[in-house]
Amino acid sequence: MNEIVEEFRRRFGRDPEWVVAAPGRVNLIGEHTDYNDGFVLPMAIERHTVIAAARRDGGAEPSINAVSLNLDEEDEFAVERGSLESTGKWTDYIKGVLAEFLERGLAPESLDLLVSSDVPMGCGLSSSAALQVAMARVLQQLDSERVSDEEVPALCQTAEHKFAGVPVGIMDQFCIANARQNHLVFLDCRTLRAEHIPFNDPDKAVLIVDSKVSRELRSGAYAERRAECDEACRIMGIAKLRDAGEETVKAARKSLGDVCYRRARHVTAENSRTIEAVAAIGHKDWVRFGDLMYRSHDSLRNDFEVSCEEIDTLVDMARNIGIAGGVFGARMTGGGFGGCVVALIEKIKADDIVEELTAGYRRATDKALSAYVSSPESGARLLEPHDMESL
Ligand code: ADP
Ligand code: MG
Repeated sequence: MNEIVEEFRRRFGRDPEWVVAAPGRVNLIGEHTDYNDGFVLPMAIERHTVIAAARRDGGAEPSINAVSLNLDEEDEFAVERGSLESTGKWTDYIKGVLAEFLERGLAPESLDLLVSSDVPMGCGLSSSAALQVAMARVLQQLDSERVSDEEVPALCQTAEHKFAGVPVGIMDQFCIANARQNHLVFLDCRTLRAEHIPFNDPDKAVLIVDSKVSRELRSGAYAERRAECDEACRIMGIAKLRDAGEETVKAARKSLGDVCYRRARHVTAENSRTIEAVAAIGHKDWVRFGDLMYRSHDSLRNDFEVSCEEIDTLVDMARNIGIAGGVFGARMTGGGFGGCVVALIEKIKADDIVEELTAGYRRATDKALSAYVSSPESGARLLEPHDMESL
């Protein structure tokens, strides 16, 4: 049996009742569009947050005892409707989801939880949403009537707003809950309708490069960008930037002012690029897809101003390697100010590309990057014993 089951037995003296796994995610294109009701194109990655869980007889005062093997931390808190509060600890992500379930009528119960993950934390691959969606899957096992699969992404998004204080969009939670193996998730963030786009060319791969630049200012700057987008909408008299075309933004340039104009220009152009990228995949036009990635990056750097020097360095190095070296395109991915670069590459050249990026990045920044190659993975699920072998 899998290590986490062994560890659960060791710590809690019995078998887990359920083991769930939720993947991390990477967004290929469509950045900072989700909270503008636009389009995104993420995929789940072959890295997972696993929770092993079992009910415990907690008497009259139910509590959760949660252990993270990654942090080597244990936290115990009471399970009571209306009284859960964020404390700045990692368990806020669990508590936030639990609070939403309790509000929808879940009966408080005591639980032991063991969390183990190979999604790197704080790098923009959404370990936070993986933890949340995994927790939601556990609670769905407790009471299958309370929350439907369709409700999980928005529920987790609300939990992140309330308990982590970051006004995130719906992309991460939606992708992590609903992704399909060998498919990208083309999501319309207004209607929450998703198209699962086949992405299974055996010669192509998605390379994720972690810059190891921590995104310390991210939550403040993220909220600031959101506010600027809302301000642009107010000036143009529209509900969301989704409702503006590139022409509308151009026409409103004067009244928008420089900053709001550039923010709006990024979002509207990025929506168009995302739609175009889906078409490019349909035609297996990888060169076109790669070009859209580079243009997305330039727009995020210049207009949306959420990149940073190290990330720009990595994208420039990818550009220099170019198609001859097996790189079709690259861009920053995630909220920005550090985190990861995503690239579309020729699979057979992956090792050479990583080697070249590693050496160049060290020369330029004195930092050591981490790189992951992934195919599109399926969304969060309850594991059967035979699944556990493969994680
Ligand atoms: P990202 O979602 O990009 O990885 P965030 O800062 O949004 O970065 O989320 C990272 C936080 O999520 C961690 O600091 C921790 O609080 C929580 N977290 C994620 N995975 C785990 C885990 N396996 N164990 C404990 N906490 C986790
Ligand atoms: Mg996160």
